Amino acid sequence: MSSPIPSLTPPKRILMGPGPSDTAPRVLAALGAPTVGHLDPYFLQVMTETQSMLRQVFRTKNELTLAVSGTGSAGMETCVVNLIEPGDKMVVCVNGVFGGRMADVAGRAGAQVTTIERPFGEVFSPEQIAEAVARVKPKVLGIVHAETSTGARQPLEEISKIVHDAGALLLADTVTSLGGLPVEVDGWQLDAVYSGTQKCLSCPPGLAPVTFSPRAVATIEARKSKVASWYLDMTMVRNYWGQDRAYHHTAPINMNYALREALALVLEEGLENHHARHKKHHLALKAGLTAIGVSYAVAEPYQLPMLNAVTIPAGVDDLKVRQQLLNEFGIEIGGGLGPMKGKTWRIGLMGETCNSRNVLILLAALERCLGDQGYRCASGAGVAAANEFYRRS
Ligand SMILES: *Cc1c(COP(=O)(O)O)cnc(C)c1O
Repeated sequence: MSSPIPSLTPPKRILMGPGPSDTAPRVLAALGAPTVGHLDPYFLQVMTETQSMLRQVFRTKNELTLAVSGTGSAGMETCVVNLIEPGDKMVVCVNGVFGGRMADVAGRAGAQVTTIERPFGEVFSPEQIAEAVARVKPKVLGIVHAETSTGARQPLEEISKIVHDAGALLLADTVTSLGGLPVEVDGWQLDAVYSGTQKCLSCPPGLAPVTFSPRAVATIEARKSKVASWYLDMTMVRNYWGQDRAYHHTAPINMNYALREALALVLEEGLENHHARHKKHHLALKAGLTAIGVSYAVAEPYQLPMLNAVTIPAGVDDLKVRQQLLNEFGIEIGGGLGPMKGKTWRIGLMGETCNSRNVLILLAALERCLGDQGYRCASGAGVAAANEFYRRS
């Protein structure tokens, strides 16, 4: 017999980056529960419960609501390939890395893509959207609700009306926003919406919740060509999640258990309370960061609660601080992406991670790391300001 190979012993981190976020013991336990078959009545029941809970979190009655087997990017691809046929026009709004990814996905799906842009950290105005849909007359307009690469929140309600008045469908990325900010799929009339499990839902990465409006389903049913991806073809996948229970691919059983448990935790807390918790700890963190002179990279009205993008103070080494946070304190925060690389940090307060303990630990640890870089601020000012916020709220 060959010598034993030691078991994995992953370090216990505090995940305060752009995702994944910390996971609750109940969710992790689900991953270790007995695996059943993908057509076992027990699993079919889990799927039905998951769909019902996803509809509550998405705030929709959409029948076609399910968890795609794959991460958030698979959700993006699912929405795009099911709506787009080769040659269809699609407008993609790019103000960060994920809008850029959507444009890439749309091009690969054969769309005739028109991108409209805003600088990283800014959001689109209704006027800019109106101009684009009037000029292009697209079948679909794609936009990111919470740009995790920049920390900016894109208001969607007004845009939705403009897009529909122009006869187009609205495709929205809610990977980071779902669970941390209101996402009103029916209220805002979003047509194709995808998310991910590892951000504010606090489940490990691996599934992508998606939902399609009746209008989007009608568009899919009216296709002249087959969906370009076999794996992500909703006309087949929906027969497995729907009445027929027809085998399409083997669902990742234990990941679906975990998502079911993560959704249960969100709904037990109450969706609105879940949103309110994200806002509260974001404001506490902001009070603390402001007190030590660290400022936000996004204008106030558009700051995301779950993803705090802040400007790295002049003279401070980005990588050294992030390494010290990880090695000495076990805290992960994110660096900047694209043009923000080396300029911003992205501090996540997503789902399970979002609590006062983590806000206070981070502020204390960050003060130490900044001090080691020669950055000066009043000792303990960040923690004191956050505590003052908590006392008053
Ligand atoms: C994380 C993220 C994605 C991609 O999700 P993966 O799970 O990494 O595939 C897409 N869009 C946004 C806004 C994200 O934050």
